[in-house]
Amino acid sequence: MSDNPFIGKDTFLFDGDGVLYKEELALPGAIEFLTLLQKKEKKIFILTNNSTKTRKEFQAKLENLGIKIPIENILTSAYLTAAYFSKHSPDLNAYIIGEEGLKEEFRSLGLKVMNSGKESNDEAIFDLDFSNVDCVVTGMDRNLTYVKLARAINILKNKDKETKFIATNGDMTFPTQQGLIPGGGAMITMLEELSGRKVELIIGKPSPQMYISALEISGSTKEEAVFFGDRIETDIMGANQVGILSFLVLSGVTSTDDLVNLSDDTSPDVIVNNLQDIIELFKDL
Ligand SMILES: [Mg+2]
Repeated sequence: MSDNPFIGKDTFLFDGDGVLYKEELALPGAIEFLTLLQKKEKKIFILTNNSTKTRKEFQAKLENLGIKIPIENILTSAYLTAAYFSKHSPDLNAYIIGEEGLKEEFRSLGLKVMNSGKESNDEAIFDLDFSNVDCVVTGMDRNLTYVKLARAINILKNKDKETKFIATNGDMTFPTQQGLIPGGGAMITMLEELSGRKVELIIGKPSPQMYISALEISGSTKEEAVFFGDRIETDIMGANQVGILSFLVLSGVTSTDDLVNLSDDTSPDVIVNNLQDIIELFKDL
């Protein structure tokens, strides 16, 4: 099979939700494909915009599904956001609209998280000392409260100091077994509307950083890599920008109805139903 797209590829990059799994359930072909790649000694990376877990928690989740991945090969928007702050502004005090996994990644790199209390709605909004907070960082937050929103607006609208507004990811929705729920992008939209400010930086896909970090760690060129994602406007757009062969998998948030009027930026190189379809191609190698 001379036109097999996997000839010369040694680094395999995967989005997580909607490609490998939905919540705690592996998607068709995912485990088989990853196992096959490991047997063939290919390098595997997980590139996820999901900011709710630490890398360690993702590693444990994958291990429960039957796949062992080194922690350096798991790149999440939470970890890369913490790494960005650690490199560029390690002294900033962050207020986080996001879940425990995101806060934990910040703390594990020695960064200061300024959220106080449980931030449930019976807490006083103005008990937090806003003068000590330098930035708001957002990610998907299934424990979002009125108190958190009110505090974030006050930080972003603080007239006494310049504050930053940084997001882990801009995914509007998140796929679950039962249906879609609001994602990290929904947090950004709410805060933009409420504060009148625009988010300054989004670390996750389609921003190139996650792909570039994976290539750096693997020591491979973009020509030697291939990427599998389920979301056109993040996964595929990012891979196309970096110049990595992009596979759109229809096991997540994108359906065939969404495939009309794709631009050059968002057109995947290959479209498959799920990873099971890939295994067939790969067996010929
Ligand atoms: Mg996905």
